[in-house]
Amino acid sequence: MPVSGLGPYDDSNIFARILRGEIPASRVHEDEWVLAFHDIAPQAPVHVLVIPKGRYVSLADFASQAPAAAVAGFWRSVAQIAQTLELEAPGYRIITNIGADAGQEVPHFHVHIFGGRPLGRLVARE
Ligand code: AMP
Repeated sequence: MPVSGLGPYDDSNIFARILRGEIPASRVHEDEWVLAFHDIAPQAPVHVLVIPKGRYVSLADFASQAPAAAVAGFWRSVAQIAQTLELEAPGYRIITNIGADAGQEVPHFHVHIFGGRPLGRLVARE
């Protein structure tokens, strides 16, 4: 059973549709474990989303249900994508929103990569 307050995975979510190629995305990277694409409403000069290819709604779901190789592959790909985007030296931020209090909009686990300018202190605004 998935471990999440988000309920079971919904195959109609927008990232599932992007993975299936049903709707377009501005892709920056794809490998065995992940698909990465530009956020449609960027909040920084670089705003890339990285999603696992499996059906996971949250970090808890992904960490508990995905094979270890998929978990390792995912995080290695996140790091590699940030390097490829030339963010390692100037720096960058990754976040993942989980559930209602974080305002998670898309119930397919994903990481945001932000960069391209000084990002300021991380604050948890309402
Ligand atoms: P979250 O609130 O963490 O679930 O973030 C969902 C993100 O997905 C938001 O930053 C949206 O701008 C982004 N988004 C929604 N639809 C698309 C799409 N079709 N292509 C790219 N990004 C999208």
